[in-house]
Amino acid sequence: MASRKYLDAPTITTFLLTMTLLTFLQLKLPNPMLLLERYVPRGGWLEIFALALYASWIFKKSRDPFQSPKWRLRIWLGFSIVFFGQLLLGLAGMDRMLMTGQLHLPVPAMIVVGPIFRGERFFMPILFLSTVLLVGPAWCSYLCYVGAWDGFAASQRNRPMKMPRWRRTVQIIILFAVIVVTMLLRMVGVSGIIAIWMAAAFGIGGVGLMVSVSRKRGVMTHCTSYCPMGALATWLGKLNPFRIRITSSCTECGRCSLACRYDALKMADIKRRQPGSSCTLCGDCLGSCRDQSLEYRFLKMNPDKARTLFLVIVIVLHTVFLGVARI
Ligand code: SF4
Ligand code: SF4
Repeated sequence: MASRKYLDAPTITTFLLTMTLLTFLQLKLPNPMLLLERYVPRGGWLEIFALALYASWIFKKSRDPFQSPKWRLRIWLGFSIVFFGQLLLGLAGMDRMLMTGQLHLPVPAMIVVGPIFRGERFFMPILFLSTVLLVGPAWCSYLCYVGAWDGFAASQRNRPMKMPRWRRTVQIIILFAVIVVTMLLRMVGVSGIIAIWMAAAFGIGGVGLMVSVSRKRGVMTHCTSYCPMGALATWLGKLNPFRIRITSSCTECGRCSLACRYDALKMADIKRRQPGSSCTLCGDCLGSCRDQSLEYRFLKMNPDKARTLFLVIVIVLHTVFLGVARI
């Protein structure tokens, strides 16, 4: 791989875009969003600068396709630890660790069922859809605060095992079931407390799946078979033009399927020359192919540039989430 200058145009773009988006949030939102701003007047500006440096650093780390799987999991877990760390400190009494103090359940399914049940507060679905438009299904490989746990659980086994074909059908049934049940709960006027307990039980069931199945099979079973948002992200993600494709130089050796924790590279997918429907554009498979037959595509763009564009956008979003996401 050709060596790159430390400060090239995409790295500087990552830095500047992160600065710009966080500056906008710092100036326009009524409450201080950045944590440092809550404790030290004007401290948010220092945090914005540090986060922009962090974004450009992880962008550099992610560009090497051989190293990016390791770094992706690290930064994703780091985001989740920061998110839940603030929640726990907030619950312990440090109220400035919380966003509004109005607690809601950190279960991804709540993004869609919460507003259906309440009939209001559509911020999270709009945020989710915006990221889907920008980076397709990469919500589930870079941005979700819970998916990182499933990624970590699956990484405990060296190689992913085969999963049954019906798992995707099950995930779609779960998506429709949670929507229908939520509408029924709303119609019959079930209390918010009961609904929250039901959602908590659903979330705990998902964690149980990570511990019992993902860890043993090496596949992100929670995210590819259970979480309704995983079905939505991969389904709606098709609205976005970013894709992973397998080129004609592929020898069908199957090595790449051992790098995919999303069960999206079965031999049938490889023969079709495109990953299965559970692909989240994580990019972990790219470095596993000796023939460099896997690549990003974005419209007619050259694959190398398409991957760079994808990484710039997803890493800027990831860093902005790291800076501002809390409950
Ligand atoms: S499938 Fe669900 S838990 Fe997994 S990353 Fe996507 S939204 Fe998060
Ligand atoms: S096919 Fe490649 S990019 Fe898609 S989920 Fe699997 S490893 Fe990630």
